[in-house]
Amino acid sequence: MISLWLIISLLTVKPDWGFFGHTLINRLAVYTLPDDMIGWYKPNIDYLAEHAVDPDKRRYAVAEEGPRHYIDLDRYAGIALPRSWTRAVERFSEDSLKAHGIVPWWIQVMLARLTKAFREKNVNAILKLSAEMGHYLGDAHVPLHASSNHNGQFTGQQGIHGFWESRIPEIFAETEWDLFSVKAMYIRNPLEFAWKRVEESAKASDSVLRFEKMLSDRVSADRKYAFENRNGLIIKQYSVAYSKSYNDMLNGMVERRLTQSVFAVASFWYTAWVNAGQPDLRNMGRKELTAEDEAAFSDLEMKWRNEKIKGRSCE
Ligand SMILES: [Zn+2]
Repeated sequence: MISLWLIISLLTVKPDWGFFGHTLINRLAVYTLPDDMIGWYKPNIDYLAEHAVDPDKRRYAVAEEGPRHYIDLDRYAGIALPRSWTRAVERFSEDSLKAHGIVPWWIQVMLARLTKAFREKNVNAILKLSAEMGHYLGDAHVPLHASSNHNGQFTGQQGIHGFWESRIPEIFAETEWDLFSVKAMYIRNPLEFAWKRVEESAKASDSVLRFEKMLSDRVSADRKYAFENRNGLIIKQYSVAYSKSYNDMLNGMVERRLTQSVFAVASFWYTAWVNAGQPDLRNMGRKELTAEDEAAFSDLEMKWRNEKIKGRSCE
């Protein structure tokens, strides 16, 4: 018999595209860059992949981090929410905006910082900001990052967050999806772009929740879940058959949003580089981690492992 203490539910995985998804998005984004950029980004691809999830780890260390990952657009139903941060603050105040999430605005902050880093040819900052901006753009594409019912907690669907963004990509991304068909493009209006993505996400969140509810109503619990052995731990997980049915009902939505995330990430890197005057990346070298970088990273790692999430959790 399986000891209960060994059963760790993957319904409690850390939130967002999941480490698998964010890592994959940053990695694939490198391959869609133009020639002038790929030659420098590619040798740094492992750093970009590994640090794609730093912003999620920071949610365990810093209270202000949480709202940067989502926006509950349903909270503004029937209200014209200004797209400009300044006008939105004038109307709602910074605190109340932050209470419902600020991801489309935070992406603009990251873009400005990355552009500055390119201008200064600051290798460490370019890589850190590229990796982290990739994260927020990925989050903006996830439907449940645009809904206050972000983990199905209002509808008895707890666990759906990780199901959509972690479990489904883990099963299908490498074997069944074609994620290479995009090329980075210059984004003329980054604010508009980010808003369109979160509005699409908000729109899709209804199907994400409804289809899972429909499926759950017709499948018994013993077919819905399965136990899997992962590195010696027995994990309770949505079964492969259940995941396949859900993915079929979504009709390619997760694959589409993942592909669009790859496009967005590469395009924002490219846009920052162009706006910085297209600095020559050939002689910039590789990122060498300083002792300070190492210390900051292990501190983040430690807080993520040992502390409770500050703010919203999908666990
Ligand atoms: Zn996130």
